[in-house]
Amino acid sequence: MASPHILIVEDEEPLALLLRYNLEAEGYQVTHAPRGDDAELILQENTPDLVLLDWMLPGVSGIELCRRLRMRPDTQALPIIMLTARGEEAERVRGLATGADDYVVKPFSVPELVARVRALLRRAAPERIADAIELGDIVLDRRAKRVHRAGREIHLGPTEFRMLEYLMERKGRVFTRGQLLDAVWGQDTDIDERTVDVHVGRLRKAINDPHERDPIRTVRGAGYSFDETFKA
Ligand code: CA
Repeated sequence: MASPHILIVEDEEPLALLLRYNLEAEGYQVTHAPRGDDAELILQENTPDLVLLDWMLPGVSGIELCRRLRMRPDTQALPIIMLTARGEEAERVRGLATGADDYVVKPFSVPELVARVRALLRRAAPERIADAIELGDIVLDRRAKRVHRAGREIHLGPTEFRMLEYLMERKGRVFTRGQLLDAVWGQDTDIDERTVDVHVGRLRKAINDPHERDPIRTVRGAGYSFDETFKA
């Protein structure tokens, strides 16, 4: 559940397959879109942790998609690596100016690209890689599957644990009930969205003593978020 999600936007099928294979082998969760407009639809539903974005695409071009993503508050800081073909190198500067974090020129070495993905994810979200996430007085140890608040151990069911881990890893981001269902229960689940509210309620009850501040924010009409201003 904690594995970072990477969206590959690439119209060259063999390359997309090669990337998917190698990234999945590294433990990443991968989605592939062969067209720029498909990718845009996917990105409206769900924000991945990183995008590999081809320059020349049918539908919406990579450069245009990158520009649009940088204008949306929820994808402004989304890590993007542009994939450019030889000959488009002169355009690199434009790519970076549009807001890509990094770029590679085709043909590239797959291990090198994987290394860049790892580096960019680490830079973008250090809490995704660490064994433990500490926010305010809450410490979630992902290896030991344990949570402590202000030194006391908090007992959580597996669903509440995964939900807290997911929200803490992405503090400040707001997730709809549907997105949380996909992330915590897995895609294609038949569970009712109200179930999310039940589990958020249980999570709150478990982590908050009566005098303590609630780090889980309910965003009316939107969903839930782990408050990024949460101190203790
Ligand atoms: Ca292409």
